[in-house]
Amino acid sequence: MIVLGIESTAHTYGCSIIDTSKKKLACILSNIKQTYTTDKGGIIPIDAANYHKEIKNKLLEQALQEANVKIQDIELIAYSQAPGLAPCLKIGMEHAKELATKYKVPLIGVNHCIAHLEIGKLSCESKDPVFLFISGANTQVISYAAGKYRIFGETLDMGLGNFIDSFARIAKIGFPGGPKISELAEKGKHLIELPYSVKGMDVAFSGMLTNLKQKYESGKYNLNDLAYSLQEHAYAMVIEVSERALAHLKKNELIAIGGVASNNRFREMAEIMCKERNAKFYVPGKDVVVDNAAMIAYTGAIMYKADKKYGTSIKNADFLPYQRTDDVNVRWVK
Ligand code: ATP
Repeated sequence: MIVLGIESTAHTYGCSIIDTSKKKLACILSNIKQTYTTDKGGIIPIDAANYHKEIKNKLLEQALQEANVKIQDIELIAYSQAPGLAPCLKIGMEHAKELATKYKVPLIGVNHCIAHLEIGKLSCESKDPVFLFISGANTQVISYAAGKYRIFGETLDMGLGNFIDSFARIAKIGFPGGPKISELAEKGKHLIELPYSVKGMDVAFSGMLTNLKQKYESGKYNLNDLAYSLQEHAYAMVIEVSERALAHLKKNELIAIGGVASNNRFREMAEIMCKERNAKFYVPGKDVVVDNAAMIAYTGAIMYKADKKYGTSIKNADFLPYQRTDDVNVRWVK
């Protein structure tokens, strides 16, 4: 089946063509994306949506051309239905509806967060993993259980990446903070005790941030040591809850996704934990980890293959800015 995927949850607009007759990541024939950016790094939803409106036809053309597929060959259109910024979601949905009407192709809405999980599984050739999602805004431990992707633990305040970026801002070392803190941490020599906040399966970073701020502003601590200690404490926290999820769920694969998963020290610590419990640790390739339309096309395809009822009529197609990962009934995972 030839599937068109459309991604438009936030700053990235993407169009991808996949061919489900091909195995693994080879099913991705094209995966085109373009990102709305601003000087200060924030996002104005309506401006992003206008940007998407202007580029959507061009990106579709590029995706078809690169895949060497004609629009008439498309057999299913999958669009990012949730969660995200309403004006951006609306542009993607309307693009999908317009094409589905014109070419009389079935339509399916896909949860963007679940698409990250599914493409992660495909990329790592993993069957039943625990996911550790550590991006700017998100910190969640997720796994499939009893018909849903369930969130077993999450941050009680800020995402791990945002926490690191906040300390980097305090220490005036620029944005994004993750890679810079990592560089400084390599030069750190002394472990400074910091608040370590794990509550059951959840984590919290605001106490550690306040403590780091006080220590930095006191002028009594070396910044390299603070960066080193931040990494040792914060990564140990998320690895502790991931290990507990692996143990409780009796699973033996851990997939880390999100920008912070590219950190070398985090990966080293995760490798050690997984090795000690005979589990495998994976980080998917960069191309599929960032927001992209191939993950939407792929997830739409496996959902539709499992149950055509996941499809929607053009009249009933909608978008759901606040849909959570565990709101979706997962009937495609056996
Ligand atoms: P979300 O997807 O949750 O809305 P986002 O798009 O900002 O957030 P990502 O792009 O997945 O998230 O990740 C960005 C975060 O990853 C930033 O906080 C950045 O500091 C962090 N990061 C990037 N590289 C590294 C690194 N090498 N070490 C630690 N953190 C890193």
